[in-house]
Amino acid sequence: MDVLTPQQRSANMAAIKGKNTKPEISLRSIIHRLGYRYRLHRKDLPGKPDIVFPSRKKVIFVHGCYWHMHDCRFGNVIPDTRTEFWQTKRTGNVARDERHVKELKALGWDCLVVWACSLRDPKTVVREVRRFLGFRGTRWKRRKRI
Ligand SMILES: [Zn+2]
Repeated sequence: MDVLTPQQRSANMAAIKGKNTKPEISLRSIIHRLGYRYRLHRKDLPGKPDIVFPSRKKVIFVHGCYWHMHDCRFGNVIPDTRTEFWQTKRTGNVARDERHVKELKALGWDCLVVWACSLRDPKTVVREVRRFLGFRGTRWKRRKRI
């Protein structure tokens, strides 16, 4: 069963190739509020990671659950029309994602994948991002003293 209406699905499909998707923007604002500074879409890195932290050598990918086949209710969906075509495309995405992570690791970069569905619960994402990036020096110290 498809959890999205045909309209939502086509908006979703349009978003796959594009940058600045809604989940990406909301993750960026979370990261910004946490006080981390980042760069976007470094074209010289495998997979053009969505959010890049050059000094930490860390990158974050924001993956749409449907297109990157997350094991969740949005990802575990089989399209009703042109099934084979879309399934091939999706499994191709997953294979490419794995390759990019391997390439990045080989170059000494740490990767985190944030799934679009997890952004429905920002608290969890905040915890995940902090654990991945490490606490930001000044703000953390200031908070500890209180
Ligand atoms: Zn998901």
